[in-house]
Amino acid sequence: MVKIKTREEIEIMRESALVVSRTLGMLAAEIKPGVNALYLDKLAEEFIREQGAEPGFLGMYDFPNTLNMSPNAQVVHGIPNKEPLKDGDIISVDCGALKNGFYGDHAYTFEVGEVAPETKKLLQVTKKSLYLGIQEFKVGNRVGDVGYAVQKYCEDHGYGVVRELVGHGLGTKLHEGPEMPNYGKRGRGKKFQEGMVVAIEPMINMGTKRIKQLKDGWTILTADGLPSAHFEHNVALVNGKPELLSTFKYIYEALGIESDEEEAFRKTPIA
Ligand code: MG
Ligand code: MG
Repeated sequence: MVKIKTREEIEIMRESALVVSRTLGMLAAEIKPGVNALYLDKLAEEFIREQGAEPGFLGMYDFPNTLNMSPNAQVVHGIPNKEPLKDGDIISVDCGALKNGFYGDHAYTFEVGEVAPETKKLLQVTKKSLYLGIQEFKVGNRVGDVGYAVQKYCEDHGYGVVRELVGHGLGTKLHEGPEMPNYGKRGRGKKFQEGMVVAIEPMINMGTKRIKQLKDGWTILTADGLPSAHFEHNVALVNGKPELLSTFKYIYEALGIESDEEEAFRKTPIA
């Protein structure tokens, strides 16, 4: 079900989103060869609680951890383990937080050490597709306009767009309506309305769009074993236009990256 948010609720949700943004920023400084995902998971859990929030994924549908950590060919829903990260890996980190009754939920794919140029390209294209999708989340458009923008850009680069997993509405529930597929047709699907809040989250594979699931019942990986990337933002529809509630600013500060990619979608600068 789609639940429209008031301005007040959107401001509460901004804080929930920022708990996650800060957590991803903290992790950005810790992700390096030799570190394991389970260690990062514990850091994240503590850091979320220090901000007066609860880990959003821990125990949700019986998920055992705070973070979904999906290295290399894993698309999403990877379970943190003690395997050390290696130079040249990528790792998609999806994080949720519940604060004041509302969820934040976003994700970033990190490079571990020195990553192959073709993998860097996959990350760049996937992240760019996220913003192309966000740009279409406006009054007058429909769900298919966002999906079309993501799919077109990624497929033009020869990548596979995962079909089975989709973005979603966000609020007092982690998954609300509408579903936000990363593929679609222009002008099709549910109409966007003022006060909607959604998680837009392209999951893009270097090779085939096909996926499989590990016997753990969670981990989704590419069918051909090639890498996959995942970037996710939380976006509110305010004054007819997309407004970012989440930010990658803390990640970029930790990594020394200059970026103005969020400026067009931001009402006020984040402190
Ligand atoms: Mg997520
Ligand atoms: Mg999500």
